[in-house]
Amino acid sequence: MTQTAIKDVPLLIDGQFVTSTSREGREVINPATQEVLARVPFATPEEVQRAVASAKAAFATWRKTPIGARARIFLRYQQLIREHMSELAALLTAEQGKTLADAEGDVFRGLEVVEHAAAIGNLQLGELANNVASGVDTYTLLQPLGVCAGITPFNFPAMIPLWMFPMAIACGNTFVLKPSEQDPLVTMRLAELALEAGVPPGVLNVVHGGPAVVDALCDHPDIKALSFVGSTRVGTHVYRRASEAGKRVQCMMGAKNHAVVMPDAPREQTLANLVGAAFGAAGQRCMAVSVVVLVGEANSWVPDLVAKARSLKVGAGHEHGTDVGPLISCQALDRVSGLIERGLSEGATLELDGRNIQVERYEKGNFVGPTLFSGVTTDMTLYREELFGPVLCVMHAATLDEAIALINANPNGNGVALFTRSGAAARRFQEDIDVGQVGINVPIPVPVPLFSFSGSRASKLGDLGPYGKQAVLFYTQTKTITTRWPDEQDVGSAGVVNTTITLK
Ligand code: NAD
Repeated sequence: MTQTAIKDVPLLIDGQFVTSTSREGREVINPATQEVLARVPFATPEEVQRAVASAKAAFATWRKTPIGARARIFLRYQQLIREHMSELAALLTAEQGKTLADAEGDVFRGLEVVEHAAAIGNLQLGELANNVASGVDTYTLLQPLGVCAGITPFNFPAMIPLWMFPMAIACGNTFVLKPSEQDPLVTMRLAELALEAGVPPGVLNVVHGGPAVVDALCDHPDIKALSFVGSTRVGTHVYRRASEAGKRVQCMMGAKNHAVVMPDAPREQTLANLVGAAFGAAGQRCMAVSVVVLVGEANSWVPDLVAKARSLKVGAGHEHGTDVGPLISCQALDRVSGLIERGLSEGATLELDGRNIQVERYEKGNFVGPTLFSGVTTDMTLYREELFGPVLCVMHAATLDEAIALINANPNGNGVALFTRSGAAARRFQEDIDVGQVGINVPIPVPVPLFSFSGSRASKLGDLGPYGKQAVLFYTQTKTITTRWPDEQDVGSAGVVNTTITLK
């Protein structure tokens, strides 16, 4: 049998897809089959340097490119992404594991940001105050910063890169992207399509790597702003390091998202929403519901929740009918299995055990089936850590206020949901809950790009969100201009030569 050579994932520097000279790297592996799809070389310091230098050089002309010309590139780009949707989703499923429907969702949520970037003409508008003093006007310019960089996680390899570089570039910046080294293939395809849409050489660059490349981007004096999405541990490090180097930084990080169920919530619909939000994408979403708080009599719902979770089909993401795909890696499988074991040893009740699940024809896949614990308390590891797997913790609260207090005592603030038929309960909840993104009968309340992703507290460092209007502020510097143009009479009285224009 002949072995096909494993291809190296290229770097993108100055408009060219180039092979890295690095000997360090890792393999991209299909998590359902363990097939090696490609090898990712970790860029050398010199290659990172070249990528940043190319972005810096390109900024000189890109910042002067008219806003309409920038917008039209993103109009073409959104069309190309649409045309390649099935191909992008298939590539994403092969390297990441999520179902094809989820993969299309991943691309689509990124596509929405590209559409938003195409509206940059309306978004990058300054303000003007007329006559702030006699003959004086003040107005603002939202000017691009220069070279910006992005570091992205494995769980949304299309959406999250698209949160970053389209808005940054549309604002007139140039960009260096470092995708997750676990699944960079769909990101690279999106970079190819960006060039095809007309992004000029050097305006978008891509380097691969792990901690050394990330640290090099944090430290580089020519990078002015850095956007990070990933775990709290790494995000905290990136925020400190890049801030110390004088950069503007935003970090979207880990989570522990609760769903609160009131006894009056519509039962079937709520149960379906809960299992979709807990086990979809194998729980590897930063907005996955990982804790359900059943209020009052809703506590009797546990057997129904278990039955619903048990009915989900575990399998390879590209197989028709799959609900829950594999975890990203063997290490993730071991980690999640270890956390389930820990939950048992700490006294939680294992209502449904997804460990050691056998998936026919995919025996080597990193599968964990839906797993559900009841009797979880706040001191347990299951509750304190982000599990990032298909594991749902069920807790009980006597009242809505008790549920709100429980959630507000958790350090994370990414997402939360309430299920109820009561407008009064919903209103109390949205007012008093201390979490940045709230869903009322919406399990995963990620806002569309007309708004911004607004995780809060320990889930975020930095003030501004990664897309929407806040991204325009993040990727630009506001400059205020104050002008005085004296009227004709003043000009005359000041002894300045009159122009031939009569201002009357
Ligand atoms: P991760 O933090 O391990 O990796 C993110 C990026 O950081 C990758 O590009 C990786 O190469 C790099 N990195 C890893 N270790 C590093 C180190 N020691 N030093 C410097 N850089 C390092 O995250 P992940 O496992 O890829 O993604 C899952 C995490 O991302 C979860 O915690 C999830 O909640 C979070 N996430 C958050 C959001 C959000 O918007 N809040 C969205 C998606 C994912």
